[in-house]
Amino acid sequence: MNVGRLSGGAVVVEEAPDPVAGSGEVVVRLAACGVCGTDLEKLRGNYRTAGKIGHEPVGVVDAVGSGVAGLRVGDRVFVHHHVPCLTCEVCRRGDLTFCPTYASTNLDPGGFSDRFRVPAENVDRSAVLRLDRSVGWEAGTLLEPAGCALTALRRVGFRPGDSVFVVGLGPVGILYGLVAISLGASWVAGAEIAPLRRATAVRSGFAAAVDPREPAALDRLVADATGGRGVDLAVAATGAPPAIALATRLARRAGTMNLFGLPESGGTLGADLQELYLRGVRVIPTYATTEREIADVHALLVGGKLDVGGIVTHTVPLARLPEAFALAGRPDEAVKVAVTGPAFGPGGSGPPPQTP
Ligand SMILES: [Zn+2]
Ligand SMILES: [Zn+2]
Repeated sequence: MNVGRLSGGAVVVEEAPDPVAGSGEVVVRLAACGVCGTDLEKLRGNYRTAGKIGHEPVGVVDAVGSGVAGLRVGDRVFVHHHVPCLTCEVCRRGDLTFCPTYASTNLDPGGFSDRFRVPAENVDRSAVLRLDRSVGWEAGTLLEPAGCALTALRRVGFRPGDSVFVVGLGPVGILYGLVAISLGASWVAGAEIAPLRRATAVRSGFAAAVDPREPAALDRLVADATGGRGVDLAVAATGAPPAIALATRLARRAGTMNLFGLPESGGTLGADLQELYLRGVRVIPTYATTEREIADVHALLVGGKLDVGGIVTHTVPLARLPEAFALAGRPDEAVKVAVTGPAFGPGGSGPPPQTP
């Protein structure tokens, strides 16, 4: 089978043996897996984690190991790559994504493979979610990033009626705004350099999207919408230092800045700390997501409260993975790129007929 991985600073597709489902495990045949901004950062060498790529996969259960309850061959599923231990001090306080072993769990060999093995600990802790018929493959690949947005909104204490400004409208920045809208945000807008992504955000439901290189227009927009106070929640959805400084400045007095996008390794805050202190802006980093938020986002999709159509702009077959990465790195051409596998089917995006 085909497996995509990082090798010597490049993305390559190699031949590998098919995985086997051991006790408590399942093997999934890939339908699609999104290319995440963090995958691009791993390729650039800017992400200090294990070098696996591909963590937004959906597919069809291909094999079920002994002792697995509730999953059958043929089930359409989303699979979450990381699971918390649920027993350590950090987990017991509820901060599951900061569990010290969370990021060491993963799929084998990763989401960009024709087939991948889901370890027993992931199966055990509900990381395999059966997709509703109404959720197509492309939308399914957005469950993980949208789950990250919901985890962030909960961690920062978002309340219905809050105003939100998202700096950086890549796919996950747009999803963040859409999830905030579905939770009852009073006003959601954002800043982004790439015109295609600004247009996608506005078409998806943002009140406005402006170019951050025009700070006067940006400041006027936020001032008009908030009576000059600043937003309740400003989100840095990109790691670019100027974006982080901008988000810090846009939050109202005693408001919140959510450090959401992966910052540069070794990056610093780049904000006037005395200003931050006197205005009482809370700076809250959030990271990743859990099974609970992924299931909640799935319910929002099924219930029609969240519409993610239009975010996935391109699908590229796994055999052309390097091309998918190149495209995902061109914000003027693509919003979200999904890599497709053998279960994607000739019908493309729609859910395939379910076998009873
Ligand atoms: Zn991701
Ligand atoms: Zn833990």
